[in-house]
Amino acid sequence: MSKLNLHDFAIMGGQAALKSKLPVGQLYWPEWDEYVAGFKGIFDRDYFTNQGPLVQELELRLQDYLGVKHVICVVNATVGLIMALEALGLKGKVVVPSFTFIASVQAITWAGLTPVFCDVDPRTHSMTVEQIEKVIDPNVSAILPVNLWGGTCLPDVLEDYARKRNISILFDSAHSFGVEYQGESVGGWGDAEVFSFHATKVFSTGEGGCIATNNDLLAKKLRNIRSSYGAGEPIEVIKTSNGRMSEAQACIGLLNLQRIDSYIQNNKKIFAKYNEIISKIKGLKIVEPSGVSHSNYQYVNLVVDEGKFGLSRDALMAVLAAENVDARRYFYPGVHNSNQYLEISKLADLRNTELLNNTLIQLPTGALVTPTLQDKICQLLIDISEFSVKLNAGRGA
Ligand SMILES: *Cc1c(COP(=O)(O)O)cnc(C)c1O
Repeated sequence: MSKLNLHDFAIMGGQAALKSKLPVGQLYWPEWDEYVAGFKGIFDRDYFTNQGPLVQELELRLQDYLGVKHVICVVNATVGLIMALEALGLKGKVVVPSFTFIASVQAITWAGLTPVFCDVDPRTHSMTVEQIEKVIDPNVSAILPVNLWGGTCLPDVLEDYARKRNISILFDSAHSFGVEYQGESVGGWGDAEVFSFHATKVFSTGEGGCIATNNDLLAKKLRNIRSSYGAGEPIEVIKTSNGRMSEAQACIGLLNLQRIDSYIQNNKKIFAKYNEIISKIKGLKIVEPSGVSHSNYQYVNLVVDEGKFGLSRDALMAVLAAENVDARRYFYPGVHNSNQYLEISKLADLRNTELLNNTLIQLPTGALVTPTLQDKICQLLIDISEFSVKLNAGRGA
């Protein structure tokens, strides 16, 4: 039902458009029956972790799916990034985009290295060779580009650059599982790529992740750093950890992997519909995933032009939240603005990151967004745009 006057909006005291809070997504999960059967198998085997049969099978399937020689499943992507930085034997500094999730940067800190922030292209949201050139110095031993929003940062271009400079390159591909670049799945670029299987990502194991690499020695080191209970050849590494994925996680992963195409297809449909409606709303614009031949549409990213729309990004978020639409502003206020990185942030001009931090919002997508719910959200956005000036004046009044 559309809002006919200002006081119909929940933020003004009206009834919320959605009965309960709708999170931003992805939250794809196996069918209950499959899930029960899968877990029954784990209980029957009495084998719950330590590189069990399900983890081993998932690694093989992921190698096939991602088109990469080695997949090392891990407990989550943050630990995966830390392990990969350690396995690469880096020293000194690592260049990382300032426009990213805090984990990309925290992993560098955990690995005992120093992040160097790099601004991003305002159109693609990714760091480019030109931007890297502005901040790189001889103490930089690696770059850590991020494949964002179901897109890529042009991995071949950045890999070429890293090879020419003789430095390592590790991709944070947490947003880009199932994404194709120039017709091929991402996963094999650089020294390694790290994927997240968190529930908010299109391919989920609840918590989880993997490191993908074509480098045999790196894979061996990673299996030893993670610790793998006899799977693979033991070699000496300086630090070990516990980055193991459990059988429960792998079970969910194997079931979700069978359905990944339908999940991506569903995301794509939701994305297209938002695009159709939002393209007619003044001051709102959907960001198309950049640098891909096939996206996973893991996010629906919206740029809010306050001048044209009549409401700021934050005001829009507050109006939506009151209607039970839990839109997000990922990366706000920006990792470069956190206290421990303020000194480092001063060393670079991060104006595009600042701009993106303050204008982007992500709308719900994924498993929970039924066609009916999406209709409601779309109608809500239309209503908000019609009342935006009045809402802006009336909010908090
Ligand atoms: C989700 C995410 C991570 C961290 O993944 P976890 O599996 O939650 O540790 C890292 N980088 C980016 C860009 C992410 O979106």
